[in-house]
Amino acid sequence: GAKNNGRNTWQFYSAALHENAAQRIQLESQLRLALERGEFLLHYQPKLDLAGGSISGFEALLRWQHPQRGLVPPLEFISILEDTGLILPVGEWVIGEVCRQLGAWAAAGLPVPPVAINLSARQLQQADLAELIERIVVGAGVDPGLLEFELTESMLMVNPEAAVAILSRIKALGMRLSVDDFGTGYSSLAYLKRFPLDALKIDRTFVRDLPDDPDDAAITKAVIRLAHSLSLKVVAEGVENIAQLRELEQYDCDEIQGYYVSRPLPAADCVALLERAEQALAA
Ligand code: C2E
Ligand code: MG
Ligand code: MG
Ligand code: MG
Repeated sequence: GAKNNGRNTWQFYSAALHENAAQRIQLESQLRLALERGEFLLHYQPKLDLAGGSISGFEALLRWQHPQRGLVPPLEFISILEDTGLILPVGEWVIGEVCRQLGAWAAAGLPVPPVAINLSARQLQQADLAELIERIVVGAGVDPGLLEFELTESMLMVNPEAAVAILSRIKALGMRLSVDDFGTGYSSLAYLKRFPLDALKIDRTFVRDLPDDPDDAAITKAVIRLAHSLSLKVVAEGVENIAQLRELEQYDCDEIQGYYVSRPLPAADCVALLERAEQALAA
């Protein structure tokens, strides 16, 4: 279509737009049914503790098992869930499913690590979010200390007063809080001291070009120093090779997450990781 011009170009793009709009409407109606049809599932990506060399926890990542298209990644549907408000029931399902999984691992006698759950801005706009989480966790009989919630800087900035109140209640329940994709949103560093946070996750765009890019190296080092002086842990996202790991180790980074350690895994594949961790402990 690029070599077309005038009316042809317009028709080309117009058709593409209609196709996208139609696709989106179709996706939307399929997503409305996906929850009741049980088409959502979670994959779990481990985090590695650099000092101890052990798995320090997992992050739960949403997937959609589409009947025709196969496994669909979240970037293709999260924004639709958010725009339609479906993220509220789906987000609630995610919390319940993580609790169910933690219970199943514990029942199987596995050493159960904390699991982090991503929250959406829409969820944080629910004034009773902390009470909702408490009901699910208490109902499932799960130790609240095994749950962590990931928030982005921009989510925290929508209504900081309300966010502080909700997050303080979640903290008081014994759960951990971290800032996801740190460094990519607009935020005021002053808020870092107001929110009851436990960890910062450095966005993978700052990790990608380590150790060669001096700007990324400077930013990463400075964020780690800042975080530590505020008593926050630091997790580096998107670590794909040993050179990045070694560099982050030198900067005193606490934990790493990324394809170098493991891709996000189906729950069944996490069992082998946990069993190995248990054997390492027993040895
Ligand atoms: P996120 O929370 O920042 O999650 C990290 C993303 O980076 C995941 O993509 C993960 O698969 C990917 N990743 C991990 N290691 C590497 C690596 O070494 N290299 C590269 N290139 N990528 C890596 P995923 O699973 O596609 O999720 C994308 C985003 O969707 C998440 O980003 C999060 O913002 C959102 N999301 C996922 N699950 C949920 C959920 O249950 N609720 C909400 N509200 N959002 C979710
Ligand atoms: Mg995350
Ligand atoms: Mg992230
Ligand atoms: Mg993200």
